[in-house]
Amino acid sequence: MTASQSASLPSTPFDQPSSGPPLGAGSGFDVAALDAKLRSAAPMEVIAAGLAAFPGRIAAVSSFGTESAVLLHMISQVDKATPVLFLDTGHLFEETLAYRDTLIARLGLTQVHTFHPDPVALAARDPENGLWSDDPDACCGLRKVEPLARALGPYAAWINGRKRYQASTRADIPFVEEDGTRVKFNPLAALGRDDLLAYMDAHALPRHPMEQFGFPSIGCMPCTSRVKPGEDPRAGRWRGKSKTECGIHIGDGK
Ligand code: SF4
Repeated sequence: MTASQSASLPSTPFDQPSSGPPLGAGSGFDVAALDAKLRSAAPMEVIAAGLAAFPGRIAAVSSFGTESAVLLHMISQVDKATPVLFLDTGHLFEETLAYRDTLIARLGLTQVHTFHPDPVALAARDPENGLWSDDPDACCGLRKVEPLARALGPYAAWINGRKRYQASTRADIPFVEEDGTRVKFNPLAALGRDDLLAYMDAHALPRHPMEQFGFPSIGCMPCTSRVKPGEDPRAGRWRGKSKTECGIHIGDGK
């Protein structure tokens, strides 16, 4: 099914122009109404509704982590040409980069774009690649938040793979929400870990190669550690620090 074939899905009353500057929450787009309309929708219906509401002006963002295959497979079923933005922070595991390429080939995604930190800013603020230890918030700002803001520049809306079950800070995320001047779609919000595993099994999706070695959540190499049985799946992220999010889902337009 392509975005143009989504007529059987819930139609949206929100007419958006297909070009021009970002049009999101700040432009009168009724985010709450669309969220309410999609409250009992399936994840692929949320994706299709997002593509229909923002034709040519919406992108997905993926870390190509352990659960990313689910969202990416669903997107590929709706429209393989959906832009997918990937941030290569410079500190990623080789396995994640290989997994990205595996999923692109397996799913037939045609518009996966990799973004990097600004090299000039890197040289000025993290010349020894040690900022992650000294100031992880600044490091995430430099290597994730700024590149994502740059990558999302042309888009009025974005799709991401956050789930409510992942953390208390994500327990209330809606399907559609305001994100500064953009609209953010969370089509997997209501899915649990078992739903994701069942979906990956049902579609024989390849798994991140590090998952089997005790890494249920994978980010940058310096800030990801193995998780012991019984621990929270994200316990290995920024272990020993109070930090729980990289910042791309916090703040205006991030
Ligand atoms: S996760 Fe760690 S290494 Fe990656 S950008 Fe954030 S602080 Fe830096």
